[in-house]
Amino acid sequence: MSTRTVPSPEELRAAPKVLLHDHLDGGLRPSTVVELAEQTGYDGLPTTDVAELGRWFTRAADSGSLESYLETFAHTCGVMQTEEALARVAAECVEDLADDGVVYAEVRYAPELFTEGGLSLDAVIKAVQAGFTEGERRVAERGGRIRTGTLLCAMRQHARALEIAELAVRYRDAGVVGFDIAGPEAGFPPTRNLDAFEYMRVNNAHFTIHAGEAFGLASIWEAIQHCGAERLGHGVRIVDDIKTSADGKVELGRLAAYVRDRRIPLELCPSSNVQTGAVGSIAEHPIGLLARLRFRITVNTDNRLMSGCSMSSEFAALVDAFGFGWAEVQWCTINAMKSAFIDFDQRLDLINNVIKPWYAERV
Ligand SMILES: [Zn+2]
Repeated sequence: MSTRTVPSPEELRAAPKVLLHDHLDGGLRPSTVVELAEQTGYDGLPTTDVAELGRWFTRAADSGSLESYLETFAHTCGVMQTEEALARVAAECVEDLADDGVVYAEVRYAPELFTEGGLSLDAVIKAVQAGFTEGERRVAERGGRIRTGTLLCAMRQHARALEIAELAVRYRDAGVVGFDIAGPEAGFPPTRNLDAFEYMRVNNAHFTIHAGEAFGLASIWEAIQHCGAERLGHGVRIVDDIKTSADGKVELGRLAAYVRDRRIPLELCPSSNVQTGAVGSIAEHPIGLLARLRFRITVNTDNRLMSGCSMSSEFAALVDAFGFGWAEVQWCTINAMKSAFIDFDQRLDLINNVIKPWYAERV
């Protein structure tokens, strides 16, 4: 893999990028959190100073304590309990991604987390979709271009997966492109939700599963072989099935080989993994090895607010840590576009008419 120039942060921002793994409640602007708290009467924020709050989010998520990590989401979800708040957050999400050069994004959220103020699941979904539509309109108005799809998540520790899967299918012509399960992996294997995955399959609908983030290979194996996941949310622990000997020889176990042979997309989120302690640093992140072995890797943000990151900053970190050049950035981008849950002809259109022409001048 050779490249002519080292991509700069500004160029990476301008480059068309594709994002498959981004949580709506993990990507709010700090200023919006403060304003929504004021408007909705939420009084739990640690500070109402915007700059200080932004730092608080990354610090709390960084602390290595699960309690403080979860507290960050208590605040974002806490201010997202009205239709207006949900629509605003969704619209700003689309604007922020477009400003960062993202041309296609799948943004996910768990509708059940936004019903504390009395909203029905349907009302939550409609409000978020209205926000995404508004965001796309604003981006188009200023001459930009972005397409967004939504993934509905069920929470592993709750027992509503089938209900959420039914909603994902019901709203598939209204912008919902797939389904996911999120939440703690340990103690909540994906096979607990087999009925939901079965429902998605019989309805010819798409789903990914958060698996192999902190938890090991068993979770990845279940997600693929028992549940039928098309993609893996994170999936980074697949490296536990890859042996590198002292002389540099690499050997894939049967599961790792299966994942690579079947081109199962890995939704890798480097900064997020460092923050949760799944890996020590970006330089130690398995993405370098997985890229060398040509797994179908994609680069993602996970939670932009908590990690203080963007798609372009994630790529910039990979340029620094692994010497990624334009060839690798394009490869990850096309990998992601190929792995998206929208129709084949639409994926092809973005690859051939938006992504490839831009990178052609640089690779
Ligand atoms: Zn995630």
